[in-house]
Amino acid sequence: MLDSNTAMAAQDLAHIWHPCTQMKDHEQLPIVPIKRGEGIYVYDMNGHKYIDCISSWWVNLFGHCNPTINAALESQLKELEHILLAGFTHQPIIKLSRRLCELLPPQLNKCFYADNGSSAIEVALKMSFHYHYNTASHLQKRTKFLSLTNAYHGETLGALSIGDLGLYKQTYMPLLLENITTPVPYVQSNKAAQDLKDTIIEPANLQESAYYEAELNALGAILTRYGEEICAFVLEPLVQCAGSMHIYPKGFVQKACAMCAEYGIHIIFDEIAVGFGRTGSMFALEQCGVVPDFLCLSKGITGGYMPLSVVVTSDVIYEAFYAPYEEHKAFLHSHSYTGNPLACSAANAVLDIFEQEHIIKRNATLSQAIATHWHTLQTHPKVENLRYCGMIFALDVRSTKRIAPFVMTQGLQRGILLRPLGNTIYFMPPYIITEEEAKYVVEQIGKILEML
Ligand SMILES: *Cc1c(COP(=O)(O)O)cnc(C)c1O
Repeated sequence: MLDSNTAMAAQDLAHIWHPCTQMKDHEQLPIVPIKRGEGIYVYDMNGHKYIDCISSWWVNLFGHCNPTINAALESQLKELEHILLAGFTHQPIIKLSRRLCELLPPQLNKCFYADNGSSAIEVALKMSFHYHYNTASHLQKRTKFLSLTNAYHGETLGALSIGDLGLYKQTYMPLLLENITTPVPYVQSNKAAQDLKDTIIEPANLQESAYYEAELNALGAILTRYGEEICAFVLEPLVQCAGSMHIYPKGFVQKACAMCAEYGIHIIFDEIAVGFGRTGSMFALEQCGVVPDFLCLSKGITGGYMPLSVVVTSDVIYEAFYAPYEEHKAFLHSHSYTGNPLACSAANAVLDIFEQEHIIKRNATLSQAIATHWHTLQTHPKVENLRYCGMIFALDVRSTKRIAPFVMTQGLQRGILLRPLGNTIYFMPPYIITEEEAKYVVEQIGKILEML
C-alpha cells in the first residue's frame, strides 16, 4: 500500500504541470500534498505538520485558516461572490479602497485593481506610457523603462522585460520590451562596507552614502543619455525579494527617485512582496520617504487567501485619462476577476487585523527577537551575508553545489517548510509566529547547515 502522500503525488503528476519547476526534479523530490492548514502549520496527507517558513510564497500574513479572515469570507459568500467592476461596484471594494488610501500618502488617491502581481506591474507600465502619450504636446518619445539589476517584477512579458533575473528571462529575450537597467547597490561587495563583515546587515547599518555613490553616478550617466526617452523607473524598495532577498540602502532609493523625477520619469514602486508590513513599516515607501507615482500591491493584501492586486496612483495621473470618450484617452485595461468581492472582503479583514492587533508595533519587537536568534547562524563557516529587514531573514550559503533540493528535503524531515532561492536560505514567516517557534526554526536551519 502506498501511503496517502505518495498516492496523491502520483495522481497529481498525471495532469498537473507545476509553476516555476523543472518537473523532472520530482523524480527525486516528491510533491508534498497538503491536506489542511492551521496557523503557522500545514499538514500533509500522512498527518505530518510543517511550519510554513515562507508564508506560502510570501502571501500568508496571519496564518492558515485564520478565524477572522475565514469569517469575513463566509459572510461575504452569503452576499455576493463576484460582479464585474466595469460599470458596477460593491461595498467591500469601496471600503478597501478608502482604507488603502488612508494608509498611504495623500497624493496616492486612486486605486486600479487587477488579480495578481504581474498584472499590476503591466497596469503600471501601460498607465505610465499612456499618461505620457495623453499629455505629450509633441510626438511621444518615451517608450523605455528603467529598472534595477537583480530586479524581479513578475513573469508576464512586460513584467519580465523589466526584471533582471536571467534564470526566468534569458530564453524570452527576443520577445521582450526595450528596457534599461541601472545597477542596484551591493553593500556586501563594497569596500566601504568591510566594517559590516561580522555585523548582521539591516537597513539601519546601510546609512552611509559611500555605500551607493557609484550606483548613483551610473544612474546619472544613463539619465543624461536616455532621460527623455524613459516612461518610468520601476523598483522594489528596500528589498529585492526574488533577487535573493537583497537588502539595499533606502538612501539610494530616495536619491535615485529624485534624480529620475527631474527628467519627468514616473516612479513605480513594486511593493508586491514588501507591502503590508514585511519590511517593518506598513509600506516600504514610508521608510524611503518617497511618494511614487504608482504603487503596486498584491501578495499579502488578502493574507494569502484570494488573488488580488492593486495599483494606487494619483489624481494627476487619473486626470490625464479623464476626457470625453471620443478623445480616446481612457485606460481600456481589464481582467475578468478584477476587484473580486471575496478577495476584497479578505483584504478588509487583513486590515482589521493590522489595526486591532497593532501588528506593525508588535512585529518590531518580534523582528528584533528573531534577528537575535538568526545572528547565531553567523558562526557557521559556510554562511555569509547574514541579513534581515523587518520580517525577512536571509543568509547565503557558500557552496558550488545546488543546495535547494537538499535543504528542502531536510527541512521537511524537521517539520519546517523551506524553499531556498539559489543558495540563499530565507525565513519569511507569517506574523503570528511566536519567538519560541521562530527559535525552533533557526535551530533546525543551523542543523541543516551543519550537514552541507
Ligand atoms: C511575486 C512578485 C511579483 C509578481 O506577482 P505574481 O502575483 O506572482 O504575478 C512582482 N513583483 C514582486 C516584487 C514579486 O515579489
